[in-house]
Amino acid sequence: MHVISSIPEMISIRNSMKGSVGFVPTMGYLHEGHLSLMTAARKQTDTVIASIFINPTQFGPNEDLDSYPRDFERDEKLAREAGVDFIFYPDKSSMYPPGYASFVVPEGLDRHLCGAKRPGHFRGVMTIVLKLFNITRPTDAYFGQKDIQQARILEQMASDFHLQLQMHIEPIVRETDGLAMSSRNVYLSPEEREQAACLYKALNTAKTKYTAGERDAKALMKAAEEEIFHHSLAQLDYIELVDYQTLMPLSRITGRAVLALAVYFGKTRLIDNMILE
Ligand code: AMP
Repeated sequence: MHVISSIPEMISIRNSMKGSVGFVPTMGYLHEGHLSLMTAARKQTDTVIASIFINPTQFGPNEDLDSYPRDFERDEKLAREAGVDFIFYPDKSSMYPPGYASFVVPEGLDRHLCGAKRPGHFRGVMTIVLKLFNITRPTDAYFGQKDIQQARILEQMASDFHLQLQMHIEPIVRETDGLAMSSRNVYLSPEEREQAACLYKALNTAKTKYTAGERDAKALMKAAEEEIFHHSLAQLDYIELVDYQTLMPLSRITGRAVLALAVYFGKTRLIDNMILE
């Protein structure tokens, strides 16, 4: 496995690659969720590139950019074990040099869920991912359902901009108690960590009602919300039931829907979702 920090070098190595190229963009501090994307890419493509870049433009002014966890040596080892061929590890000043002035913005898919709570977040995400796509020119790109709105927005970007690649959305990898794996889980105190399984419990409570025939959005969201309210350290940021394609709120489920939520434990914001269909 090779680590490449220079953009021109990454472009030149990419240009010499034959066959399919799988790409997994990450912000590092790798866990099983990231590794599942790398493993999928390893199985399905000839060469696997993973990027590690904590993208400043997707963080809001009061968010955790400075404290975002990092451990490059550990990441390198895990990525190697997952079969990654190249880690692209650029620095901020080469991705956003002085005079940088171009951004990609979503139209509509960011109106709800995290988009409503984190203004500018998806502008940062779309911009960095398009830049990374242009540098690595993957035939296949891998994203997690964990960040469902991000995955849908990027899928739409790939389609709208006629990008010549296949997008893959992989299932959410969870801890044994159901907590979705996230680099941010390390921020949780032991008490918060114990209660953090309530996001998954809440989604499952709603899913049970859905399976029993409930289709009313308010009833499903209320069932999930009550589960969160029973946990003293959890503070609900949002819970929404949206259409899978449009990410617009539903009053009743008739097709493929997503129940998504964000919950604060102190300053730590966790997200999770479940597809109901
Ligand atoms: P991040 O480093 O948080 O930007 O995540 C990089 C990629 O890993 C994104 O496509 C995420 O959706 C995906 N990812 C993060 N956590 C998980 C998880 N628990 N299961 C599956 N994919 C995940």
